[in-house]
Amino acid sequence: MFDVKSLNANWNYPTNVRQGIGKINKLPQYCKELGMKAPLIITDPGLVDLPMIAQAKDNCTANELNCGVFSDVVGNPTDKNVYDGVNAYKEGNHDGVIAFGGGSALDAAKAVALLVGQEGNLWDYEDVGSNWRNVNTEKMAPVVAVPTTSGTGSEVGRASVITDPVNHVKRMIFHPNMMPAIVILDAELTVGLPAKLTAATGMDAFSHALEAYCANYYHPMAEGIALEAIRLIKHYLPRATKDGTDIEARAQVMVASSMGATAFQRGLGGMHAIAHSLGALYNSHHGLLNAILMPYVLKANRSAIEERIERLARYLELSDASFEGFLSWVVELRSELEIPHSLAEIKIDSQQSNKIGEMAFSDACAGGNPIQFSADEYSSIFDSAVAGTL
Ligand SMILES: [Zn+2]
Repeated sequence: MFDVKSLNANWNYPTNVRQGIGKINKLPQYCKELGMKAPLIITDPGLVDLPMIAQAKDNCTANELNCGVFSDVVGNPTDKNVYDGVNAYKEGNHDGVIAFGGGSALDAAKAVALLVGQEGNLWDYEDVGSNWRNVNTEKMAPVVAVPTTSGTGSEVGRASVITDPVNHVKRMIFHPNMMPAIVILDAELTVGLPAKLTAATGMDAFSHALEAYCANYYHPMAEGIALEAIRLIKHYLPRATKDGTDIEARAQVMVASSMGATAFQRGLGGMHAIAHSLGALYNSHHGLLNAILMPYVLKANRSAIEERIERLARYLELSDASFEGFLSWVVELRSELEIPHSLAEIKIDSQQSNKIGEMAFSDACAGGNPIQFSADEYSSIFDSAVAGTL
């Protein structure tokens, strides 16, 4: 349908998105568009030694930008990572942030960019009530986001998920201006991503679009974006997983990932409510958790989403466009991507089922779920995902 060279565009929705192979070479220009003279690249330790970071830094330096690198960010980043990043930013006299990497690096970087000019501490800006109104927006650092995975869509998100290790919970830091001002979607940066991570992150993108599509709020724009994101995932995620050098598939999955996160401004739901709780307790991969949880949560939501799912199944041209047909297709897709069917297969057991039920019930994402489940109901969905009973 497309020549890969035609997969090249500048979009201004939901922010300035510069999409296409080789767009990373324009990083210095984009930093300058945002008035930066001394950007700080915030990335994770797994990436910092790869040539792509050295090249980005060298390219910035060659273009008279005083560029630094901070990489002390763990998967599921903590408040300490954010404070360390703020210190690095201040010590280096930086004036902008290049958020470069997977979801963890992007989330940490966006939180650093918010916090650098504020008087409060990080949790003062947790997404509770109208905390975000206390942010001094003038003092927020500008951000260019460069995702290197296709899943979280954090590059177009207005929030960061940061772990509070003291209380073992994940907290959402939110401000409308946390959406990066410029996003570079260059699929070549994802070519080296191993198949397992390609699959798990891609399923995270799928879960964003799917939960947004099913969410309990009136937002037809988000619904339309979610539909097309799911179609792109269906066509291209298996290809990108099987052959990491399939650049067309990589580019389409990358766009679908940004679309998933754009759609979830509408809300998320039960998959994310449980995945956040498990992520805080077990430190498991977020996308993998959503991928495993997906059919169990869908089934529990059936009475509220059946008609919508049938409409989605028709759009996807599934041979069986019923709710069961969709559910079977999800299970087949997961197995084609070699994603485990149960949580037991990734060594999560039912011992903390009650606690997980309560955590999921109180998670911010639970509000978007089409049915308002009780803590007990979340526990039993979790138990079926542990056991693998659909
Ligand atoms: Zn997610």
